[in-house]
Amino acid sequence: MNRLCVHTITTKPLSLEQCLLEYPKHGVEGITIWRQTLEGRNCTSVARQVKEEGLQLVSLCRGGFFPHTTVAGRQAAIDDNLRAIGQAHSLGAPIIVLVCGAFPGQSLAESRKQITDGIAAVLPIAEQAGVKLSVEPLHPMYADTRSAVNTMRQANEICDALGSPASVGIALDVYHVWWDPELQQQIQHSASLNRLHALHICDWRVPTTDLLNDRGLMGEGCIPVREISEWVDAAGFEGYREVEIFSDRWWNTDQTVFLDQIAKSYERVYSAEALGSNSHSSHHVRH
Ligand code: ZN
Repeated sequence: MNRLCVHTITTKPLSLEQCLLEYPKHGVEGITIWRQTLEGRNCTSVARQVKEEGLQLVSLCRGGFFPHTTVAGRQAAIDDNLRAIGQAHSLGAPIIVLVCGAFPGQSLAESRKQITDGIAAVLPIAEQAGVKLSVEPLHPMYADTRSAVNTMRQANEICDALGSPASVGIALDVYHVWWDPELQQQIQHSASLNRLHALHICDWRVPTTDLLNDRGLMGEGCIPVREISEWVDAAGFEGYREVEIFSDRWWNTDQTVFLDQIAKSYERVYSAEALGSNSHSSHHVRH
């Protein structure tokens, strides 16, 4: 098992069926499905197709976006999260990743309270469905509209506020939290409470040209992907390493070539030779 998983958004130009065919050809063992690729499909048949291709379904992306200034807006978010839980259950996805949301003009503290309340509202249904909810802290540049949860500490605090139920945890994306001076300590803390659910990998290009769609392949930027992965493993995490890359640059290329590059960069970052070294430094090119 190589622990390599790819998010369907990473190969956005491919349909779900194409992802299921192509991923195994490139040594990919796990798949995280984004909900938009499910449109017009039956979740139970998708679950069967995933198995037929020998892939492991790692998680469903994404739920969340709980904050809103109106009750109706917050209820709409809860309803959408309940739909996501139903989908995850039919798919057999063990986890839903939550991009928790933020509402411009509303304080981040209030948004975090609404996020906690929103998760609490859907939690009983998630537990019945056997689906875990994973809060993904997002880089603070997204605190305007995407997430009021910007650090591992804040994600841990939300889990604490909910009473640390076994079905709520954290999805760590290196793109969002690599800069955090508390990262290693918060990884250890969350893993010690069995709430480190997922690891998303990619890289931060230097200079980055777009705040959303300029993520790099592992090794194309300045994130110490290998080092962070070692912290995560040392804390006891044994799950997949999920490649999640939004990139106009890569989406404009042949996706089978892109998948080749993903497999190669994954191999480079996690090869035995890179052990104990800061793998990013040898590949980083300063412009
Ligand atoms: Zn992510």
